[in-house]
Amino acid sequence: MKTSPISLSLLVAASTALTSFAAPDPNWLGHDRQRPLPPVITPGTPSTQEKPGRAPSDATVLFDGTNTSGWVAMDGSPTKWIVRDGALECVPGSGYVRTLQSFGDCQLHVEWAAPTPVQGNSQGRGNSGVFFGLGRYEVQVLDSYQNKTYADGSAASVYNQYPPLVNASLPPGQWQTYDIIWTAPRFDDEGKLVSKARLTVFHNGVLVQNDVELTGPTAWIGRAPYSAHPTRLPIAFQDHGNPVRYRNVWVRELGNPRKVEIYPADALLESYVGSYGQGQWNTAVITRRPDGLLGMKMAGADLVLHAESNTKFYALTTDVQVEFVKSGATTKLLVTVGEDSEHPMTLERANR
Ligand code: MG
Repeated sequence: MKTSPISLSLLVAASTALTSFAAPDPNWLGHDRQRPLPPVITPGTPSTQEKPGRAPSDATVLFDGTNTSGWVAMDGSPTKWIVRDGALECVPGSGYVRTLQSFGDCQLHVEWAAPTPVQGNSQGRGNSGVFFGLGRYEVQVLDSYQNKTYADGSAASVYNQYPPLVNASLPPGQWQTYDIIWTAPRFDDEGKLVSKARLTVFHNGVLVQNDVELTGPTAWIGRAPYSAHPTRLPIAFQDHGNPVRYRNVWVRELGNPRKVEIYPADALLESYVGSYGQGQWNTAVITRRPDGLLGMKMAGADLVLHAESNTKFYALTTDVQVEFVKSGATTKLLVTVGEDSEHPMTLERANR
């Protein structure tokens, strides 16, 4: 990276601005030929009513019409939503469905269709929702075609906060698209809000939410305050008692590439909690943090563990990897610090 000759104070000011919102990177000259070119990708193709389009080549395809792998119930157990005629369909009463994988800031493409024949009215007709932050922040899904309801509960509203700019709804039974830009809220180490969540939404290609700032989680009644949670969390669809269908769901995570992160089943995470030891000196205490992730206290350090799989976890602040191995009466905790993955430190805990 080439550093341009600008004063230190200007650099500091500019990098402070970068951490909030976009400003040209002061580390590159205008037209700098040393600057890496953007990655080349193959763009997707648009959908028709008959046939879903193709995702861009760098997208993570969340649902391709064939199976529910990658989708679970909110607690991480298998989902009861079904796949029918190439669509992921809500089974009323089965609960929300969420991705196994967690995502931070992202571009999300979702196609959905309200049920036919039409049943119910207002909020009872074709109601579902696209949720970010593990069920906290809802972009409303509703059959808003010739169906009167309150403005801030219409299709493509940020529920109970922002009505869509226009009603761009298609009739029930037809495939509709949401293209959503999600910016997750940020919290500091003490759990204090640093920046609010933001949403931009296109409904059937029409801009209906223009970078709105959320007041907090979306709630049926009132304004719920923000409470700290990880930047990356699963995306979910709501079960609101109507058999709404989804197809061609894909996501592109924004920002610097990071290792894949999943959000395992609650019961599994709970089963790892406890004190792992080896003799007098080495111990590690695994806890469940208030934000749902696992924490590890070891050698005076307090690390947040991010799940790479159901058994492998990693920290973001130090090069530490851990693996849980359950065998018979004990669970082993293999801890690798730095590069020495050949010789992990092995700590053990009796199973409960
Ligand atoms: Mg809803």
